[in-house]
Amino acid sequence: MKTKLSKSSEIDVVVIGAGAAGLSASSELIKKGRSVLCVEAMNRIGGRCFTNHDIFGSPFDVGAHWLHNYSGNHIVQYGLRKNKKFTIYKIKEDILVYDGKKKVSPKHLVETINNIKEFKEKLLERNIVLNKDKKSYRDDVPFINQIPKKLKDNKWFQTAHLTLGACLAGVDFDKYTIIDEKLNYEHLGENDGFVKEGYGTLLADLRKEVQVSLNTEVREIKWNGKGVVLETNQGTIKAKYCIVTVSIEILRLGKIKFIPSLPIEKYEAFDGITLGTYNHITLKLKKKFYENFEIQPDTYFFSKVEKNSIPPKGFFGSLRLHKSNLSYFDVGGQFAKDLEEEGHDASVDFVLNSLRSIFGSNFDQYFIKAHATSWGKNKYTMGSYSSARPGKSHLRNVLKLPVGDRIYFAGEATSTNYGTVHGADTSGKEVVNELLSALI
Ligand SMILES: Cc1cc2nc3c(=O)[nH]c(=O)nc-3n(C[C@H](O)[C@H](O)[C@H](O)COP(=O)(O)OP(=O)(O)OC[C@H]3O[C@@H](n4cnc5c(N)ncnc54)[C@H](O)[C@@H]3O)c2cc1C
Repeated sequence: MKTKLSKSSEIDVVVIGAGAAGLSASSELIKKGRSVLCVEAMNRIGGRCFTNHDIFGSPFDVGAHWLHNYSGNHIVQYGLRKNKKFTIYKIKEDILVYDGKKKVSPKHLVETINNIKEFKEKLLERNIVLNKDKKSYRDDVPFINQIPKKLKDNKWFQTAHLTLGACLAGVDFDKYTIIDEKLNYEHLGENDGFVKEGYGTLLADLRKEVQVSLNTEVREIKWNGKGVVLETNQGTIKAKYCIVTVSIEILRLGKIKFIPSLPIEKYEAFDGITLGTYNHITLKLKKKFYENFEIQPDTYFFSKVEKNSIPPKGFFGSLRLHKSNLSYFDVGGQFAKDLEEEGHDASVDFVLNSLRSIFGSNFDQYFIKAHATSWGKNKYTMGSYSSARPGKSHLRNVLKLPVGDRIYFAGEATSTNYGTVHGADTSGKEVVNELLSALI
């Protein structure tokens, strides 16, 4: 998987980033007989899809862990074919809901979630109308402003908001627009699945033929002469083409400098599509906890978020994953950002305090270890997954437009399944086909 950086001979394509998109682009180039160099700033591959085995001594996905669009996800198909190596299954979706200390029927929360979804579907059915500028769309507004008061007044609204906004989109409803989905998202398949060995392990296996130059940070891309010249911390790389797969926030912050600058609309797009925040606060708990509270493997767990908690401060729990003793308490949106600022221990304390108030002050007897991710603080991702800012959904298409017939863009934000691993992976393959067809 690792390779040494070759600076001498000019290669066809240099791929920047070894996440799902970069690995898939590199793999496709290899298949098509092109010379390729994949460079990665971190000391590992996988980007936002990586399985760590050290923290808890068992597979722990620090980034992606749901196999979304299970029935239409080609990575699932790969894993199912490799059934001696991977245990892949569709999730049953058992739900456990607490209102304070009291276990309650999931009915009211599920109803509220479904009511928001139905309301959203109705909006999505409406024809989209262009604004006078002939670029942006009339209904491309914050979703929170469209939701009727009656729905917002429901006592489970903020819990549903946290589930469908902060955790699903990485932003709260005030920064979320359904026009992004209408214009840019394609529903590929139903349900979600899990892979016991970790999504990162599965992705690495799928792309095992790709050689990657690790610890290689690209700082500049010069495209004023022939081809591209990349300045990295390991020296200069020359290539005919490059494929940029770094996160949208890395591009927005100008962490890679383009010389000359890219056309202005590219920078508008980097700014218009934002990178939301979503983190796992994961606890390893004693078996006794799951037994005493009769918690089945892969149970989704909700604790009611108070109506006046704005942005919604709470978590989306996935308990006893894959029959292990790990439970994820995921946070998203502005609250996740705030917790990141407060630091690792504050994130863990938030979850522990919540669990003490639900399961009793002696909850700590079940506690073994905790870990909180902070993707917004990772200097090579700077966030979790993308979401169009209200009024800017039309700019997502601009993200993937190539520049100067030699700089191509891929990655989750450019995909019609944005926010997912299989979407990022597909974008890598597609960009190679676009690049190669432009050569004919
Ligand atoms: C906490 C979390 C949970 C998620 N949950 C799910 C889930 O359950 N299911 C799902 O399908 N998706 C999920 N996602 C989203 C999914 O992980 C991403 O959409 C996908 O992995 C992005 O892949 P990518 O290749 O586009 O980008 P990345 O994975 O970010 O890859 C880009 C790579 O570029 C590298 N890079 C950055 N700057 C430079 C530079 N200057 N030089 C060289 N290399 C550089 C980075 O280190 C990185 O490895 C989750 C994401 C997070 C953060």
